[in-house]
Amino acid sequence: MCGIEVGVHYSWFIILFLGTVSLTRQFASEYPQWTPSEYYAVGIATSLLFFASILVHELAHSFIALVKGIPVRSVILFLFGGVAQIGRRPDRPLTEFQIAIAGPIASVLLAVGFRTIEHLVGDQFEQLTVLTDWLAWINLILAAFNLVPGFPLDGGRIFRAALWYITGSLRKATRIAAGTGQGIGYALIFFGIWTGFSIDWFSGLWLAFVGWYLMNAAQESFVQVSVRSALSGFVAEDVMSRDCPSVTGRISLAELVQDYVLRKGRCCFIVTDGNRLEGLVTYHHIKAVPQERWTQVSVGEAMTPLAHVRVVSPEKPLLDVLRLLEGQDVNQVPVAAGNRLLGMVMRDHLLRVLTANMELGVPRKRELYVPRLSKLPRASSTA
Ligand SMILES: [Zn+2]
Repeated sequence: MCGIEVGVHYSWFIILFLGTVSLTRQFASEYPQWTPSEYYAVGIATSLLFFASILVHELAHSFIALVKGIPVRSVILFLFGGVAQIGRRPDRPLTEFQIAIAGPIASVLLAVGFRTIEHLVGDQFEQLTVLTDWLAWINLILAAFNLVPGFPLDGGRIFRAALWYITGSLRKATRIAAGTGQGIGYALIFFGIWTGFSIDWFSGLWLAFVGWYLMNAAQESFVQVSVRSALSGFVAEDVMSRDCPSVTGRISLAELVQDYVLRKGRCCFIVTDGNRLEGLVTYHHIKAVPQERWTQVSVGEAMTPLAHVRVVSPEKPLLDVLRLLEGQDVNQVPVAAGNRLLGMVMRDHLLRVLTANMELGVPRKRELYVPRLSKLPRASSTA
């Protein structure tokens, strides 16, 4: 849709099924004059249109993001509704505000639309009146719920944008907005449990789960922003280890293990031929070969050749390096300028920088690092 990929997580089918069952039962008890096929039909149609409404809400966020030049990866429907995955965080509070408010506005417009249809139809078709009335209400509730100021709900994003605008600090703004988000998550869990026992177990359980999801999402977004802010300003060169042991590809794996792995306690080696970088050999490669063949297989045969090794430049922002490590599920990445190997960034180096920075709160204003980075690294986020 508009170049946006729309996906459905399997958990969505669960909620679609349970929602339809719950609606059908509700209609059956409220309108006993309907035939079973009537309340089933209205139940299914209402349920599907409800999820279509959620989709419209998410597409509204996505559409504004696209207008603002922010790529949208996909819109996914899942257990707790929908989520639009946008390619990066808005870089201005105003943009974040506009993207966030678009969803609730769309929901309000849908509510008005369904109410209008209801009035146009009048009393002619009771089923259609019931359907439009329910959808008008649910869209209004959806808009109101999403405007609750707890991050990552839309209202929380609006709240964060306002704090961001006032304080000038995204990190501080996220901390406060995520805090209220967690509070609202807890409140929903309790409210859900209360609803479950006193009104309707299904709605109560669902609310409690939404609360639990919100609480986690709020926590996660804060950690994400903290990681981003702790790593921003650093580049690969700042944390790479320069004393990376190199070996020749001509020795056997047995020799590598005997002379280098056991003696130096290292688990990753650069394979070179003189000054030329040839590849990378790690524990992983050694373990892939049965031990009885270690004397016959050379390092050159077992290694990942350079063409397949992803290297980064020394100026690569650390945040991008982290994303690369995670994306490829590797523990290290060589840092090279042209064919010249400079060092290696290990996952634990990154973690050390992160821990030190987060624990000590080292001021990142060390001018040493700042000039190298013209702008903050872009990162993925959801809205
Ligand atoms: Zn929304």
